[in-house]
Amino acid sequence: MFTLSRRRILLAAVCTGLTVLPAVGGWTTGRSIRQSAAPVTAAPGTAAPGTAAPGTAAPVSDAGSGPDGPTRPGAAVTGSAGSHSALAGSAGPDAATGPGTAPESGTEVCGFAPDASCGGDDAGPRGRDGGSQLVPAPLAPPVGWALTDVPRFPPRPAPEPIVLPDTDEVPVLSRVPVTQPVAFITIDDGYLKHPEAPKLFAAAGVPVTLFLTTDAVRDDLAYFGRLRAHGAVIEAHTISHPQLRGRSAGFQRRQICASADLLGEWYGRRPVLFRPPFGAQDRTTLRMAKSCGIKAAFLWKETVHKGKVRYQEGRTVRAGDIILMHFRPAFVEDFLAALRAIHRAGLTPALLEDYVPG
Ligand SMILES: [Zn+2]
Repeated sequence: MFTLSRRRILLAAVCTGLTVLPAVGGWTTGRSIRQSAAPVTAAPGTAAPGTAAPGTAAPVSDAGSGPDGPTRPGAAVTGSAGSHSALAGSAGPDAATGPGTAPESGTEVCGFAPDASCGGDDAGPRGRDGGSQLVPAPLAPPVGWALTDVPRFPPRPAPEPIVLPDTDEVPVLSRVPVTQPVAFITIDDGYLKHPEAPKLFAAAGVPVTLFLTTDAVRDDLAYFGRLRAHGAVIEAHTISHPQLRGRSAGFQRRQICASADLLGEWYGRRPVLFRPPFGAQDRTTLRMAKSCGIKAAFLWKETVHKGKVRYQEGRTVRAGDIILMHFRPAFVEDFLAALRAIHRAGLTPALLEDYVPG
């Protein structure tokens, strides 16, 4: 009798855990996960604006590891970022390495989502129309990471939109001049459509900006539509990822403008931000970007590659920093490393588009 009772107790405890843990982790069963923190609409005039300096950034060389190597851009002109007291005392430059990338399918985490297709596609319909998929589809359980790996952040402050200079060139920013404890995650290219990305975005509930190369994404537009449904905003990163510096105005204009046009056609929102491939640009780049409706160009202060964060300055993420990663095989480790680095610095991920008005 005693043994039977103990088994019942254990069974009840296990069932309770299976029910409660996913909810605690933000992961619900049997229904889709929605972006928990929708981008905040900037309230005009509620914050003292910073002013972005005009872009005169020096070019950068390509490190050669993929379309954008983990390179450092040249001396980008940035506004003076306000420091934040929480920035001191961070850990070392390398973020913690995330979980393995080659998990077995059909692991026990499948029990956390009995109504989802375990190990299956979390996708909505695939096809050329990636623009209308703003209602997230149900998600399969995490593979190779756990909900508890995702740092939790305090609510984002109301954004402080910056004031951009009124010139014939777009400014180049690698750090947004903010006074708030925020940082910005940006993810480039889109050649690899990592299956964990939608789940990670949903679990983290933080905004990200995707600088997409149209040739890289056109074979699966719906994938990036799903990322939009989980809070990502899509911006421009040329058609074919060439180095723009030194090229003709016509060439540069086509790469920038046509990619923005295409992304606008595909996703229903024409990009207003731009990142030059490899961070390489010249004044022609900035003038052509301005001429086709781009508001600002972006470099970065940190890169994340193979689970490690590399800093241009110091050993911590600073307020306003733009963090660069890519759609690469180590996407899970890279995204978690970026989140941990921001968390260690006492910052909260914020949406670039909330600070740089479109
Ligand atoms: Zn790139």
